[in-house]
Amino acid sequence: SKATLFDKNTRVNVTFEDVAGLDEAKEEVMEVVDFLKNPKKYTTLGGKIPKGVLLVGPPGTGKTLLAKAVAGEAEVPFFTISGSDFVEMFVGVGASRVRDLFKQAREKAPCIIFIDEIDAIGRTRGRNSIQGGNDERENTLNQLLVEMDGFSSEKGVILMAATNRPDVLDSALLRPGRFDRQIGIDRPDLHGREQIFRVHLQHIKKHSDISSEALAEMTPGFAGAEIANVCNEAALIAARRNKKAVDMEDFNYALDKVIGGLEKKNKLISPGE
Ligand code: ATP
Repeated sequence: SKATLFDKNTRVNVTFEDVAGLDEAKEEVMEVVDFLKNPKKYTTLGGKIPKGVLLVGPPGTGKTLLAKAVAGEAEVPFFTISGSDFVEMFVGVGASRVRDLFKQAREKAPCIIFIDEIDAIGRTRGRNSIQGGNDERENTLNQLLVEMDGFSSEKGVILMAATNRPDVLDSALLRPGRFDRQIGIDRPDLHGREQIFRVHLQHIKKHSDISSEALAEMTPGFAGAEIANVCNEAALIAARRNKKAVDMEDFNYALDKVIGGLEKKNKLISPGE
């Protein structure tokens, strides 16, 4: 079959240490980790654990990474699926895929289900219904709502989702008992970028002239994904030049390359400018 629903290997080895910055967001999801580790502690006191946590923020800021880290810290399976998969791969079978996903997750509880790009299935219903295919998406969304209502977080299944378009989400998704907890994930500031560089520089053989502080200053506006990309490019450039260690010169070339790529992408998105 062409599309697997989710990775067969649902164990992750990402921890909070791999997630740089995002201190407030980490603080907020810590509760979910603690719950997954000892659900009884919470349920015996009558507290209600959130069913769904929505991570809201621009692309590449570590939303997927953070969700994975929650599973990694709690040592529970991580089931993941991207909203765009439903649109692109699961044509005609979206609703049954959702049912399968929740069925598998219930069997493996405690666990995390992560839906990336939830806006691809979670857009407000009932608009543009002249276009074919919209009903399909609505069926998928309806099934998701049914599944969310049909389980209680006490069973140990926590739903996490990510979007950079919370404004287009169907309000039914945001009601109490669904994604009622929202966590904002912003692009990193100077200090955040420095911390992200630190994490990604760990895996690199560096020359002594490398400074994560200087690199953070050279990368205003960068998200974590771009920083990871720069570090990787720099290592490749150094290798191509047969260097023993990656130095600032390599980083300068890598920056030019990544910034050039970003500019091209932006031009494609806004050709009028
Ligand atoms: P998208 O919305 O595009 O899916 P995302 O917010 O889910 O993006 P991730 O997929 O988590 O972003 O990030 C991509 C990669 O960028 C990560 O695997 C990691 O290597 C790096 N990265 C992003 N943010 C951070 C961070 N805060 N700390 C360390 N690495 C990060």
